[in-house]
Amino acid sequence: MATDMKPKQAFCLRPPRRHSPLSRFFLFSLVLILTLLGTKLRHYDALTIFWPAEAVLLGLFIRRPDWANQILNWVLVVLAYLCAELIARNPLPIALLLTLANVSGVGLAYWLITRNPLLDLSLRRPQAMLTLAAYYGLACLLSSLLGGVALSLHTSQELSLAILSWVLTGLISYTAILPVVLTAPARPWRRFLEYWNEPHLMSLAQLAPALSLLLSSLLSLLIDGPGSMAFPVLPLLWCALSYSLFSTTLLTLFYVLWTLFALSQPMYFLPSQLHTSLDLLSLRIGIASIALASITSASLMSARNQAVEKLQRLAHHDALTGLLNKQAFYQQSQLVLTQCRLKQLPVSVIVLDIDHFKPINDTHGHHVGDLALTAITQRISLALRDTDLCGRLGGEEFGILLPDCSATQAHAVAERVRKSIALLPFSLDNDQQLTMTASLGVATLEPSTLDLHALLRQADTALYEAKRAGRDQSFSYHFPEPHTGT
Ligand code: GH3
Ligand code: MG
Ligand code: MG
Repeated sequence: MATDMKPKQAFCLRPPRRHSPLSRFFLFSLVLILTLLGTKLRHYDALTIFWPAEAVLLGLFIRRPDWANQILNWVLVVLAYLCAELIARNPLPIALLLTLANVSGVGLAYWLITRNPLLDLSLRRPQAMLTLAAYYGLACLLSSLLGGVALSLHTSQELSLAILSWVLTGLISYTAILPVVLTAPARPWRRFLEYWNEPHLMSLAQLAPALSLLLSSLLSLLIDGPGSMAFPVLPLLWCALSYSLFSTTLLTLFYVLWTLFALSQPMYFLPSQLHTSLDLLSLRIGIASIALASITSASLMSARNQAVEKLQRLAHHDALTGLLNKQAFYQQSQLVLTQCRLKQLPVSVIVLDIDHFKPINDTHGHHVGDLALTAITQRISLALRDTDLCGRLGGEEFGILLPDCSATQAHAVAERVRKSIALLPFSLDNDQQLTMTASLGVATLEPSTLDLHALLRQADTALYEAKRAGRDQSFSYHFPEPHTGT
């Protein structure tokens, strides 16, 4: 599908620009701080190993490929990793090995991901998160060969366990953080401020999924048993079904961090029950799987919402002109008419038919006829208010519903529309100029008018009169004089 092939640049926060020393300093500091944070959490056997640096860096490079394409940026990244490992008091050979492992991991993940032009990096396709996970999983595997050796040399941990631990640390960190970076809106702080400054009230129903996640996370601490880790699964699914993709990725990050850190506290059951390193590794596979499932559900929901929106648009709008189609025009006009009747506001309709349109098709071809229809649509729309409804009733006939508009005002609107079509010729794509006119029939709702169909019939009658009178005119419907019976 064509929509599957969006260029990756679409996810750039900003168009590429020159790299200032400040942005390079930002990159260096980011990697340094995140790596230092990771080294603080690196207790090797503990549940709390979390390694945010690669995931944030990969996300940043995917969103800003111009950053990833600069060799100097990669040099800065290597230096930042090395500095952090040395600050964490690792011997130089170990620090070098760990740096090599980290940089090769993120480099391979970036290379694999950017090789696939069909991968939707905004994660709005159902398979996107799983494909992404396969790529960064492979990269973690490769970097674990170096990283595992470094860990086992430094900590006398069994090599196989060190490799497994490295892979799972990478997997869980990428799974929790990368989707947040990839789906974050451009300039999130501005969006947050706009949202904050708007008067808004969040209903309890809107908050319920997030509250249920919080509650289930608390319950997972209070209720004993290995299944408690999965308590938040249903609330996460609820969040994925209710919130935007970005919000779900944030809540999933919360779930991962909460489960990793809160459950590792000595007062709770897990450390006493999980004696071996393998128990901890298995727990982390479980957490990563739940996070993957949650984000995949949110991607599925996002793809579904996009598809529904597209279908609704197609179902309600005319493909050529983008106006409401006949059925949608009738439905929406019916609603507006009922509201105006309740509020005792006047309502009018206009039916517009282009004059001598068939000869345009016959002389210039159907394609030019289509262009003319689109051009006329634009002129009609410009002559109307935002509250007016306009639809294509068929062929070259249009319906316009004018709420809160009396007969006199409606006639003036019809004249405005007519003149906007007739006064200026239309320029078509082959530099041709085409003059067109239209005839319009106007009718205004009276207490005796039965319904919308009756009103449109009256406008049709007026249109017929306008055509008979020579075209390029607006006629208003006049009720016949009542018979006196004499
Ligand atoms: P009149 O002034 O009496 O309205 O004359 P007319 O030629 O406009 O009237 P008529 O209803 O006979 O012709 C309408 C023409 O509109 C017939 C058809 O070829 C053309 N038409 C209808 N739908 C489309 C369309 O989607 N695209 C194009 N290019 N032409 C269309
Ligand atoms: Mg016509
Ligand atoms: Mg017609």
